[in-house]
Amino acid sequence: MDYLAEGIALGVDSLILAACIKQYYKHKNAMSMIQGAPFLEINKDLKEIVRTHPESKLSYVSIRGTVKPLGNPIVSNNNPNVTGVVQLLRIKEHVIQRSTTGFWADSERTIQEVHNFMPFALQSGGMQVEIIDPLAADVLDMDVISDEFKPTVPSVMDHIWGFFAGVRQRGVQSTEKMLRKGAMITGIGEIVHTSDGNLRLQPPSNGAPFYLTNMQVTSLVKKIDGSKRNYRLLCIFFGGLGVVIVGLLVRKYWKYKLKLIEDAKRKEKIEESRRLRRRQMRDNNLPESQLCVVCKSNPIEIILLPCGHVCLCEDCQADINDNCPVCRAPIDKKSVAFIT
Ligand SMILES: [Zn+2]
Ligand SMILES: [Zn+2]
Repeated sequence: MDYLAEGIALGVDSLILAACIKQYYKHKNAMSMIQGAPFLEINKDLKEIVRTHPESKLSYVSIRGTVKPLGNPIVSNNNPNVTGVVQLLRIKEHVIQRSTTGFWADSERTIQEVHNFMPFALQSGGMQVEIIDPLAADVLDMDVISDEFKPTVPSVMDHIWGFFAGVRQRGVQSTEKMLRKGAMITGIGEIVHTSDGNLRLQPPSNGAPFYLTNMQVTSLVKKIDGSKRNYRLLCIFFGGLGVVIVGLLVRKYWKYKLKLIEDAKRKEKIEESRRLRRRQMRDNNLPESQLCVVCKSNPIEIILLPCGHVCLCEDCQADINDNCPVCRAPIDKKSVAFIT
């Protein structure tokens, strides 16, 4: 009985379903946490509000302000007019790869990825909140400064090599992203009043996500809600698929069980008709000494060893395996006896 295909399908389905459920709850929790985070204006009262809280911190708040570098800003590699506080430089190679199925498919791999960053502050109305490690953010929105794709021009040798190696290069994509100086962003995280008298936004110690996004809180919540809904749909889909696969498995097992029962019935029928046929062919006027000691109707047909008693018919011998019914000697072996 082969349940391998269904088993594998069910396993894969369960893994995907588990991942979707995890993502769904992650988004759901993030949403409720963001909605529960108070929005604080960056103004002269903020320092006092934070300082007077226990441990001089508020565990999850959202603030909004413009990005101000704390020091000399980073200058873009591709556009000297653009400066910022976080820079991402990424080089990706696009290739066409022959898969194990023999088809050629597009794929890409990151060759190099560099992040440069510096501490900065979110500023509003002359007051500011420092952000020391922006790369610790779970979500960090940046502007694309440059995104260039350089196609490879392959030589004849490259074509030949590519055919045998199963990989052909399509080109190289270079991307530069930056969190620009002067950008208006929302920061959601833990705000603390530091010992040197400044305010700082940092990753929350309760594990809630740390956001640095150009979206307003309401749009961010809407976006997370959208993703949450998509994951819910995926959960429903893969959950339903799981139910279908389990249904198929049950049906297959049920069919197998029914077949076993039917086989047993058919076998029993054949056996019964064989017995009947045998009985009809027998001599009905046998003396009692020639009849089976158990059923007293069939002729003796089986010899028991080592005692040598010929006292059972073929039908009854199946139920007697331990001792000879005549002398109680243990039965080692049974054999067909030919009585002429
Ligand atoms: Zn018998
Ligand atoms: Zn015996």
